[in-house]
Amino acid sequence: MKNLVRIVFVLTVSIMNVYPKEFIVALDIGHSPKKAGAISASGYREYNFNRSLTLTVYKELARQHIKAVFVNSSEKDIELKERTSNAKLLGASIFLSIHHDSVPANFFYLTEKHYIRGFGTFVSTKNKYFEQSLFLASKISNSLLTQKYKFNTFHNLRIKGESKEILEDGVYKYDDLLVLKTAQMPAVLIEAAVIANPNDEILATKQNYKAGIAKAIALAILEYQNASIK
Ligand SMILES: [Zn+2]
Repeated sequence: MKNLVRIVFVLTVSIMNVYPKEFIVALDIGHSPKKAGAISASGYREYNFNRSLTLTVYKELARQHIKAVFVNSSEKDIELKERTSNAKLLGASIFLSIHHDSVPANFFYLTEKHYIRGFGTFVSTKNKYFEQSLFLASKISNSLLTQKYKFNTFHNLRIKGESKEILEDGVYKYDDLLVLKTAQMPAVLIEAAVIANPNDEILATKQNYKAGIAKAIALAILEYQNASIK
């Protein structure tokens, strides 16, 4: 079985070398069913939010005739490095990891007061295609800000484990995020909302909130393609 998988990959890679490269978006559903990430204000796991939003993004991309593939759709626990190597093997042009945010427990009281809310995008200068990653993240963020989504600046606070530099409105530098630095193509991670915040949690389940994020991503990708920076 392993050999068969290898043969299919080798054939796919060989075909890709013969024909012009098709533009493909690799979609990473953040976390996995067993390692499900953050816990929302009402006790739901982040993976479920990530999965639902990633499916909305996939459908929006299909509507815009943009091909997308999942790097971890099989409900299994797939290691982070395997996700980026899958993206490479599948011939992905860009890598997009979809998450929902939280805060350390001692900051929960600030989510209740709604001070910590909104989205953020992340890029790594350790990614070989940092400039393209930043271009994509910047387009996604601009589109969300235009739609009145709020940028969550919590990660910029001078506290332990945070202090992330803001490169542009909506975009953080996060060099050691594993999927960003191991991706062998431009890569962006998006935190769509702060699910530890009760208000953001409700928003994150709303179809219009998810559709807005999906639209911003699709628009950014279209602009990325038009700018034809490869
Ligand atoms: Zn996450």
